Amino acid sequence: MESQITKLQNSLLVWYCSNGRHSLPWRNKTIPNRAYAVLISEIMLQQTQVKVVLERYFFPFLEKFPDLETLSQATEEEVLRLWQGLGYYTRARNLQKLAKICAKTGLPKEAESLVKLPGIGAYTAGAVACFGYNQCVSFVDSNIKRILIRLFALKNPAQKILEEKARLLLNKKDSFNHNQALLDLGALICTAKSPKCEICPISKFCQGKNHLQALATKKQMRNLKKSLYLAICIKDSKIALVKSTQKLYYGLYNFPEILQKDSTKLQNIGILKHAYTKYNLSVHCYIVPQHIIANSKFKFFPLDALSTLPLSSLALKVIKLLEVKSLLKP
Ligand code: SF4
Repeated sequence: MESQITKLQNSLLVWYCSNGRHSLPWRNKTIPNRAYAVLISEIMLQQTQVKVVLERYFFPFLEKFPDLETLSQATEEEVLRLWQGLGYYTRARNLQKLAKICAKTGLPKEAESLVKLPGIGAYTAGAVACFGYNQCVSFVDSNIKRILIRLFALKNPAQKILEEKARLLLNKKDSFNHNQALLDLGALICTAKSPKCEICPISKFCQGKNHLQALATKKQMRNLKKSLYLAICIKDSKIALVKSTQKLYYGLYNFPEILQKDSTKLQNIGILKHAYTKYNLSVHCYIVPQHIIANSKFKFFPLDALSTLPLSSLALKVIKLLEVKSLLKP
């Protein structure tokens, strides 16, 4: 007799067949250099929405760096330039480190080897092994974790328990589509805020659907307020920028900061809102004479360098403001 797990797997696959996001390019098994394309998509999709990756980042990156070899030979600025606006730039730098390690040998096929590479966690290793190489492995990302918690009614489960449940659920006859189906179920049906249990293909197997509140995981605080004071210093058609050495923005160019006390007599050209990690920033932008930022490590760049330098997403917002105010004319 068919077990409950087999029935659940079949229901999931039937649903995926007609409702899954099959057209996502990294799911296309004929895409050239498939494991590499899957790796790039998985790294980009960490912390970034599918729509953004699809429309603005995935294809330009693959066009410029079609394989590990070209990526390993690029300069850090070239890579960061294509990552510009995606945020979490450590991902791009780790990708390049990985490319340097694997350029000659190729990407490993096994999750156990992939997980030893820079920037690759257990989920990404499993996803690349399964979606890039058809390996029969399970893994747990935030979407799959939510489904497992609800499906098995698990209260604050340890990662080990979640991995055991994912292994138990794995459809060994079709792990590729099974794992894609779980990712889509989490993104489209078993969503964090409003799960659609009434149309869920695995509803009849779900032990937690009537206890969703009790199974909710705690959200990370994301709304700490902070103010930032930025200097816009333009002189002889050149603009002052600082190359960041902070972990989050390492290697990217930003506008120099000034102290709040130095801003009182300066011309304020606007206040921008910007969110990063757990902070909601109010960014105050000032036209600043050079001596106010004399102690900072800024450099002057020609205005046309703004279209070639890797810039932080905050710097890109400031540039838009300067364009609107017609302050970037040579
Ligand atoms: S029945 Fe509801 S809670 Fe259970 S897996 Fe489906 S959508 Fe999620």
